[in-house]
Amino acid sequence: MSEAKPSLVGMTRGELKEALVSRPDANLRSKQLALHLYKRAEADLANMADLPQELRDELAEHFAVQPLEVAAHRTSTDGVEKLLVHNGDHQVYECVLLPYEDRVSCCISSQVGCPMGCKFCATGLGGFDRNLTPGEIVGQYLLLQRISQRRVSHVVFMGMGEPLLNYKNLLISLRLLHDEVGLSYRHLTVSTVGLVPQILDLAKEQLPIHLALSLHSPIDEIRDRLMPVNHKWPVKEVVGAMKEYQRATGRKITIEYLLIKDVTDTSEQAVELARIMKGTPSVVNLIPFNWVDTGEGFHRPEAERVRTFRGILAKRGINVTQRVERGHDIAAACGQLAGQHQGKFARRAPSSVLPVLS
Ligand code: SAH
Ligand code: SF4
Repeated sequence: MSEAKPSLVGMTRGELKEALVSRPDANLRSKQLALHLYKRAEADLANMADLPQELRDELAEHFAVQPLEVAAHRTSTDGVEKLLVHNGDHQVYECVLLPYEDRVSCCISSQVGCPMGCKFCATGLGGFDRNLTPGEIVGQYLLLQRISQRRVSHVVFMGMGEPLLNYKNLLISLRLLHDEVGLSYRHLTVSTVGLVPQILDLAKEQLPIHLALSLHSPIDEIRDRLMPVNHKWPVKEVVGAMKEYQRATGRKITIEYLLIKDVTDTSEQAVELARIMKGTPSVVNLIPFNWVDTGEGFHRPEAERVRTFRGILAKRGINVTQRVERGHDIAAACGQLAGQHQGKFARRAPSSVLPVLS
């Protein structure tokens, strides 16, 4: 099974060089190898013709090229493609290719499952298995690049998992996507539930990536009920950390705002959201709730409510956008990536949700 051997994808240039250290041409060969792996998204050593055969044989003996296998591949009527991937076990996770007219983006996972327990999210309801490695994170991008007709230029960490809980591997992955794949940091978006210490750490890294906060309500009593994380870092603290990130990086921040009927879509919350974001270079992205059976009785608001909410923000000078929803027929939308599939690759329910915040 491929997981027995370490994978080349996920290794930094330094690590590749280290792996070839016994060779006098380690520098040149690691450069060629990185080009194949990351720039050309090549998955087969046999196609790396400029590497000597004996080197390819040696690499094949000790390494897998990349760690992922595809368990299922679904294509939506609107061109969205969703891959269910794994490493030969039941720990499956998902990534999504999102072609737009002007660009191709992809949505990738940072963990198998998620321990944060948000009440509206299919991933959260399924519990947590483990963090993904840099090879598994960058590997998702490379798989999607291989099936895409066009260059995949944008990556959003909005698949399964909370990226900032997998901080070290996230940073390695962001650097690989930038340094080796060649993507602009500005085209990399990390979405977080709002882990204050990690947001402040990320601000210090000075990577000009795009950070999005899943706020979903500006009122603690409501956010408390939806997102257990709010007990630890309430609205004022997390929004404060995001503003600090904005100041430190100069990047506009995004506030993700989930509209749940009669829960988060009230005019009172729109007014409060405008008040706390006023003056901060930011965009509020409205996401009407994608129905998942959470047992909470949540519903999507009517279009009119969404318009009213949007209008209140816009009138107060807040930049506001609404998420273009794609891939509904293959359950590729936000919050629906639960890795729930029938048969051999059905994800086993983890024994418990980890008490990460205690
Ligand atoms: N853990 C990170 C990133 C993954 S979730 C985070 O929470 O930000 C990506 C986005 O999908 C988040 O904004 C999340 O709140 C949203 N989401 C979760 N469940 C959803 C649902 N049922 N409908 C719409 N969006 C949802
Ligand atoms: Fe985890 Fe994000 Fe889902 Fe919350 S919304 S449970 S943080 S994946």
